[in-house]
Amino acid sequence: MLSGLGPAAHLRDHGIAVVKDLPQVGQGMQDHLAVSHYFRATEATLNARLARVLAQMITGAQYLLMGTGPLSAPVNQCSGYVRSRRSNRVPDLQIYANPISYQTRTASPAVEQEAGFLLCAQPCRPESRGSITLASSDPTTPPVIQANSLATENDRAMAIEAEHVLAQLAATPSVQAITAKRLEPDVTAMSDDDMLANFRDNANTVFHPSCTCRMGRNAQESVLDSRLRVHGVDGLRVVDASAFPNVTSGNTNAPVMMLAERASRMILEDAAQARRV
Ligand SMILES: Cc1cc2nc3c(=O)[nH]c(=O)nc-3n(C[C@H](O)[C@H](O)[C@H](O)COP(=O)(O)OP(=O)(O)OC[C@H]3O[C@@H](n4cnc5c(N)ncnc54)[C@H](O)[C@@H]3O)c2cc1C
Repeated sequence: MLSGLGPAAHLRDHGIAVVKDLPQVGQGMQDHLAVSHYFRATEATLNARLARVLAQMITGAQYLLMGTGPLSAPVNQCSGYVRSRRSNRVPDLQIYANPISYQTRTASPAVEQEAGFLLCAQPCRPESRGSITLASSDPTTPPVIQANSLATENDRAMAIEAEHVLAQLAATPSVQAITAKRLEPDVTAMSDDDMLANFRDNANTVFHPSCTCRMGRNAQESVLDSRLRVHGVDGLRVVDASAFPNVTSGNTNAPVMMLAERASRMILEDAAQARRV
């Protein structure tokens, strides 16, 4: 947008010369939101290795010297996809369990001292779409990001389903066996309204914002064609998560790499074609 490619009126509002009017640039943003529930554990978790300074130093040294230990593995140590209802054809929720608990909403985020763990769930296919727009023509000014989460009935229903799956997990004998205490709000004792309110208040982005330069048929409904070329602009492609028409069902890193592999082939094919012509 700062280079003059985007919704013409919005660019003019910021005194930017319009190179190409592309109304969908910055529109259609999607992201995954995850809700977490916290538990005190009956046995030691990674909190013992990461909460106190001395333990942090030992754990850090283990990783630096031997490449092993908790810092050599992702924090989401087990994860999977589940169907919120048996009748669903495909999974519609991603769940994780982390053998660690931490506070992220305090002034200084920290791993908790007491043994604890998390259970998390995120709807795979949100429908809500937000936007990213300019706050200013100064590139050092942060843009305006409007997530617009939970804007559809389906997204609100899926937020409640995510909480229900965590309630079922928390009540299983194997999770109960390692639970010393369910921290508030106790997911097993919540009404649907409580669940939605909790999701609204406490669900977080899992850092998958995408789709703000999405592929599609024409410039009125998208930014790119199916070969990732910007509609109506020669020699310009967008190859990143913003090109997705929809956010993927799961994590976005591997899909971005797949997109980039595919794009590199397209660029070579188009260059070869141009040489033939
Ligand atoms: C904290 C965090 C945790 C995540 N965890 C996971 C995970 O566990 N699994 C997973 O699959 N995904 C994860 N993701 C998401 C994943 O990293 C992103 O979806 C993916 O990296 C997006 O790739 P991209 O190429 O679209 O953007 P990026 O990887 O952000 O690449 C954009 C690049 O453009 C550069 N750039 C920006 N502006 C300019 C400019 N003006 N000129 C030149 N260069 C510029 C940036 O420096 C950057 O290198 C996580 C993201 C975050 C932030």
